[in-house]
This record gives sequence, C-alpha cells and structure tokens, in this order.
Amino acid sequence: MSSKVHFTDMRATQKLNLIDKVGRLFSEAGFKEIISPGELVAVKLHFGEKGNTGFIRPQFIRKIVEEIKKAGGKPFLTDANTLYAGSRSNAVDHLRTAIENGFAYAVVDAPLVIADGLSGKDYVQVPVDLKHCKDVKIGSAVALADVLLAVTHFKGHEATGFGGAIKNVGMGCGSRAGKQVMHSDMLPEVKTEKCRACSRCNQWCPTGAIAVGELKMAVLDPQLCIGCGECTITCPHGAISVNWRNNMKDALQEKMAEYASGVVKNKKGKIGFITFLNNITPDCDCFSFSDAPVVKDIGILASRDMVAIDQACADLVNMERGLPGSRLEGKEDVKDKFAALTPGIDWSRQLVYGEEIGLGSREYELVKLE
Ligand code: SF4
Ligand code: SF4
Repeated sequence: MSSKVHFTDMRATQKLNLIDKVGRLFSEAGFKEIISPGELVAVKLHFGEKGNTGFIRPQFIRKIVEEIKKAGGKPFLTDANTLYAGSRSNAVDHLRTAIENGFAYAVVDAPLVIADGLSGKDYVQVPVDLKHCKDVKIGSAVALADVLLAVTHFKGHEATGFGGAIKNVGMGCGSRAGKQVMHSDMLPEVKTEKCRACSRCNQWCPTGAIAVGELKMAVLDPQLCIGCGECTITCPHGAISVNWRNNMKDALQEKMAEYASGVVKNKKGKIGFITFLNNITPDCDCFSFSDAPVVKDIGILASRDMVAIDQACADLVNMERGLPGSRLEGKEDVKDKFAALTPGIDWSRQLVYGEEIGLGSREYELVKLE
C-alpha cells in the first residue's frame, strides 16, 4: 500500500512564505491529530556540528514548535550525543554548539534536551528481536516522549549514501553505546603513500585508535577503533578510507533501520516526519564544514511514513541534474547521484530492509501543496 508524502517546492510569495508552508504541511500531513493536549513532543533534529552550515534553519523549527503548541503539546528539541570527538559528544558541548548554531530558546521557543544525557549513558533498552539486534539502546528523552516528530535535513552520507529520516531516527536517537553497535562493522584503512603525518586524525579520534607512529605515518589500532568513521573525513589528504569488516557494508544501514524500529515501537500513531530537501550537501551535518550543494534546492516534505519520505527524497534528488562547481561536477547527468558520491554503497538497503521489518512503504503518493 502506498503512503502519502506531502510536498511543497521552494517557491515563495509575499502571501505564502516558506515558514507558512511548513505550517501548512504540518496540518495537511495530519500532525495535529497525533498530538493530545499535555503530551511531551520530542522534535528530533540535528543541531549541526560547529562549523557546519547545512542544518535546518532555526526559524523553521520555531514554526513547528508553534504548531505543536497550538495542538496542545509540550515540544522540546532533542538529539543524542555523537560517538566521535567533536563539538557534540557530551551534553554540555552539544547544548553550547546548538545555541551557537541558532537553536537558542529565544529563537526556537522550546527547551533543548539532550536525548541520552550528560555523557551518553542515559538510555532505554528496547527489545526488537531482529537480524542484528535483540534490543536497541535509545536516548531516554526520545524513548519516554509521548510523540516523536523527526525533522530531517536530507543530504549525502559517506557510509550510507544519504542521510534521511531513517538515519535521523535510527542513528540519531541511538545512545553512544547504540551508535557504537551500529558502526561496529566499519574499520578504516590508512593509505600510507598518501599520509603526510599531520596528526589531524589523531586529534579527532575519540579512542586514540589512530596516531602517527615512528615511521612518520598514521597507524591504526583495530582493537581500539570503534568504527565511528570520523578520521575518514577529517584527513585533509584523503589518506583514510573505510574497509568494511567481513564485507558487512549493508549491516550499518540494516542496524540503523532496526534502531529506528525500536524508537517507534511504543509510538504507534504518534510519529511524524518533516524533511527539508534543500542545501543538499554531499556529507552529513556531523562534519565541521558543509561542502557546496550537489543539486538545487527541491522542497519540503511531510509524511507519517519514514520509508516513504526517504524514498521520495532519494527519487527527487536523482531526478535533478548535478550542479557544476559541486562534487558532482563532470557527473551532472548520472542517474544515481548518491552512487556517484559514495561508490560501492547501496543506499537503497535502508529502504528495502526498512520496508521488510515494517517501518513503512517504499511506495508513495506525492501530494503537492496547493
Ligand atoms: S580510528 Fe576508528 S575510532 Fe578513531 S576516528 Fe577513525 S574510525 Fe573513529
Ligand atoms: S590526518 Fe591523514 S595525513 Fe594526517 S596523519 Fe592522519 S592519515 Fe596521515
């Protein structure tokens, strides 16, 4: 059965600006009906790493907060701590980064709660009994909320092809221990001929698993590595690539979907998804930079189905031409933009497996906002 995905393009007028359009999408997707007066509503988003500029503008979040309050809910903004050392690996740094990126109370009109607490240890274990995970470790603030509204910035991703709603919910609501489980099949590899011994990877590694050794090149300790993948992007010389343990490339996406199923397990009829398909950068908002968008801004989508909304976003991106001056330069007309950005990653795995385990439907009907 196909699911409805409500869509608006990025056109705006004096009578109907983009913030108003977000309010209209909220109503048309039926989000008012999933909130009862007095319920705690977790607005799961990504506050962006320090230095990143790709995340969703706080003004849009304020509008969503306003709509939740109109429906009688008590909204709070949330995300879980990161696995890697960066500006969001504990609640203090995370909140400071969120505020510096514009998510201050005065702007968004809602409190910020870090889902898995001060140091990532505040989680609820939810049984799922699926292929990879018997149970999943979900940040308590999300697990205990009455309603979940996942607000996602859709973009490319180095390990999963793209980052959409499934990733925002599955990976994003996982506690640090949960994120470690999801990443455990990734192991980076140092291309010694490219290494310039700059030690940048060591500065970002959360476990000290990689360091410049006596031979003046980075050496990785596989026993210490937790597979967070941070070093693969922070190396300025492209000397680190991912080597998948036991050819387990698909496992990361499958585990992510299993985590998402744990997040939504006790929230039947209490979940909504809004996805911003603009500023479509090639990498995740977890990085301390945002490279040029790879296709033009497309629109904003809302749905009650996380598989359908991700499938719609992937299809809409693939219908566009790659932008010159971006990482798709010279590949403007490729059919599969994500495969061109992350060769060897089958991004559809999260959708196919998500559908298999009952997260939603890959078939969708795009309903355009009048
Ligand atoms: S060496 Fe391992 S733990 Fe360290 S940053 Fe790289 S992937 Fe993460
Ligand atoms: S960041 Fe890259 S170039 Fe620098 S030491 Fe690490 S692997 Fe080598």
